[in-house]
Amino acid sequence: MNTLHEPARDLPVIHEADVCVLGGSCTGLFAAIRAARLGARVVIVEKDNCFGGVATTAMVNVWHSLHDTEGKQQIIAGLTQETIDRLDRRGTVKRHELTNPSRGFTFNSEELKIELDELAREAGIKIYLHTQFAAPAPLRDASGRLEAVFVENKSGRGAIRARMFIDATGDADLAARLGCETYLANHLQPATACARFAGWSTLGETAARVGELIREHGPAHQLPPTFSWGNYVPNSDVYMLAATRIHGINPANADDLTHGEIEGRRQVRAIMDILRAASPDARLSLEALPSRLGLRESRHIRSSYQLSGDDVLSGRAFDDTIAQGSYRVDIHHQDKPGITLRYLDGLEEYHRPGHPSERSRWRPETATNPTYYQIPYRTLLPVSGPDNVIVAGRMLDVDPIAHAAVRVMVNMNQTGEAAGVAAVMALDTNQPLRALNVPALRAKLAAGGSAL
Ligand SMILES: Cc1cc2nc3c(=O)[nH]c(=O)nc-3n(C[C@H](O)[C@H](O)[C@H](O)COP(=O)(O)OP(=O)(O)OC[C@H]3O[C@@H](n4cnc5c(N)ncnc54)[C@H](O)[C@@H]3O)c2cc1C
Repeated sequence: MNTLHEPARDLPVIHEADVCVLGGSCTGLFAAIRAARLGARVVIVEKDNCFGGVATTAMVNVWHSLHDTEGKQQIIAGLTQETIDRLDRRGTVKRHELTNPSRGFTFNSEELKIELDELAREAGIKIYLHTQFAAPAPLRDASGRLEAVFVENKSGRGAIRARMFIDATGDADLAARLGCETYLANHLQPATACARFAGWSTLGETAARVGELIREHGPAHQLPPTFSWGNYVPNSDVYMLAATRIHGINPANADDLTHGEIEGRRQVRAIMDILRAASPDARLSLEALPSRLGLRESRHIRSSYQLSGDDVLSGRAFDDTIAQGSYRVDIHHQDKPGITLRYLDGLEEYHRPGHPSERSRWRPETATNPTYYQIPYRTLLPVSGPDNVIVAGRMLDVDPIAHAAVRVMVNMNQTGEAAGVAAVMALDTNQPLRALNVPALRAKLAAGGSAL
């Protein structure tokens, strides 16, 4: 490879903290807040201009049900519930969870940005927005701990020193750069550029035919077969549509990401042209594009335990459970059109564009079914690398079927809360993250509001 030497230089330590969180989606921010509420000095580093990750910058305005599949037991609470309650007080969230668990809660992503700012400020966290994690500092010794990370922003490059680090970058940027073992699934779930449209209701009946119209006219616009869904932004005529598909990109690769952003926007325009042609009198306008492509999957870390599809679909219980979920397995295929949905009660549906849904069973019927699944603490701990680094979010160690269920935000938010509390417990007890007393961790999570 053609290379240039970057001269070594001393960098200013711009901040010192107990816990440093990299990545400020709700996963990362909730980690930071839980740690700060336990008295830790916390710093959070986010490369975009706001908190929220996919929920804000990629405009995905849906959190799924906080209840089990029967709607009887609340299995998720904590900061997800707290945030929903705060949005509710402002009238910017709609609850559908008991009638449509898959829709759960729809909210206004712009209001969420402001609410997350408030939560961060109230917790007294040091915030760096527009700041990118660049590299880990060299380890203290071969078996040592991570002492600092290098970040880059408008003010230049600097170091943040901390005692614990939480990688919530979605792409396992810290873990990968530390040389921890990571892997990519054979078929990464595709990326999607969402879009918000004003005047959606003026489309009339066309609004219900988006998928069909894309199927019919998409090939003329070089649109791949897709699965389209969307939601009104509460109390508005603005509609968030997720209907594009960018296949075959690895979001942890800069060229792929660049191509994905541009291709996503091209597809949004093509869809808009198809809708306008079908409904020429509609007053449809493109209200907003995402500031970041919606990413479903990139790197995963290798931990001592890979959560499997079997674990999820059988509702397997773990002694070290730190998060729970009931969202179905939802595989957005890269290798064939459409999506497959697999449910805890043994049913499976394959939705293939242009064809009737195919219903079958992935397992025989049983008298009782699991109603939720569990995520173990172990899946957040890189099997190798410094013992003061933990991950949270979609890079946890899961097989493709488990990933297709657990990746959704109400689940990932809990992994953040667990990582934040674990980091503080490890500091308080002077223990490595891998040796934590997990029953005590679970008790602390519950005491702070988690539904464990
Ligand atoms: C189109 C689409 C639809 C989806 N639909 C739903 C849905 O309806 N409901 C649902 O719950 N989930 C949905 N998901 C899945 C869900 O959004 C993701 O799996 C989830 O957001 C993952 O959360 P995360 O915190 O791990 O990652 P992300 O939300 O990707 O957050 C990572 C954060 O880290 C920051 N970051 C990354 N690298 C760096 C760096 N080097 N330095 C500093 N900051 C960095 C990013 O800017 C971002 O804020 C959808 C995803 C997509 C793409």
